[in-house]
Amino acid sequence: MNALQLYSPAKVNLILKVINRRADGFHNIHTLFERISLCDQMHFRILPSQEIRILCDHPGVPCTSQNLVHKAASLLQQYCGVTKGVEVRIKKNIPVAAGLAGGSSNAATTLFALNRLWNLRLSRKQLLDCAARIGSDVPFFIWDVNWAIGERRGERIRPVSLRQKIWHVLVVPKIKMPTPKVYGALNLEVTSISVFNRNSGSVYGKKRHFRAGTAKKIERLTKTSDNANILIHSLLEKDINKSRDLLSNDLEQGIISVCPRLADIKERLKALGLQGVSFSGSGPSLFGLMASKAEAEKWRSILSKYYSQVFAVRTL
Ligand code: ATP
Repeated sequence: MNALQLYSPAKVNLILKVINRRADGFHNIHTLFERISLCDQMHFRILPSQEIRILCDHPGVPCTSQNLVHKAASLLQQYCGVTKGVEVRIKKNIPVAAGLAGGSSNAATTLFALNRLWNLRLSRKQLLDCAARIGSDVPFFIWDVNWAIGERRGERIRPVSLRQKIWHVLVVPKIKMPTPKVYGALNLEVTSISVFNRNSGSVYGKKRHFRAGTAKKIERLTKTSDNANILIHSLLEKDINKSRDLLSNDLEQGIISVCPRLADIKERLKALGLQGVSFSGSGPSLFGLMASKAEAEKWRSILSKYYSQVFAVRTL
């Protein structure tokens, strides 16, 4: 095999809790990821030299070493001593810098594709290690699951075995949101939460060996994980109203201080009657949770009169 064509899906965050700001500048989060049906198309072809050639139809995406696809390919070349190269053609359908993790998904798809094309036989654990070095959202896409909890920077993934497929209407205002700026706007002090640095300390782990004095932190973490658990449960029960009430994103305040116009857009969507509206990731994408495909299509047609990038999407 010397060529491969793959879809590279987007994600939304149904819950995104910011736990604390770390000394390394990153933030620990707790998030519920959902893989959705909005996908880029990627075509990979082996090159005989070590060249990494990227071709993309979107003018906002760099085709240089800044592209996350390039980072993924060159990381594998170094990690495995690969002497071959690759040409990657990307057809972008996922809006760029929109909180939908299109670039991260492209990077994960590249790791997966080159593992096969270059015949590297890397295990999932090895691919996950590479993914985490490229970006916080990349490891989620290495797992072949639609639902997962992300912890630490988002790179520690716990797959959720939920078969549920739900529909959304997705509105993507044409505003570029730089993720570091949004986190920065939260203005959090650096704090340490020791439980995140301990293997046994995950809120989803069975063994918990916490030091005395961390009770308050644990209580907060437990509440955080409960929110996601309750939402997963209400999705299982197809309780759409309860699920809508549980959507939350702690980055909202940062998103709105970076771009106050997004508060007006959210209010307008609610005034039009859209329920359970929430931002995905660091925005500007907003989505509503729908009871059916028909409802999602109805809202897509209504909102297309006001916004240029509106999609009806569902769990992949
Ligand atoms: P993040 O939250 O990880 O910043 P995002 O989902 O908000 O991501 P992306 O579409 O992944 O946004 O793009 C973020 C930035 O990464 C853009 O400014 C873009 O120029 C750059 N980028 C690099 N490689 C890619 C790629 N393959 N596809 C899209 N953007 C890419």
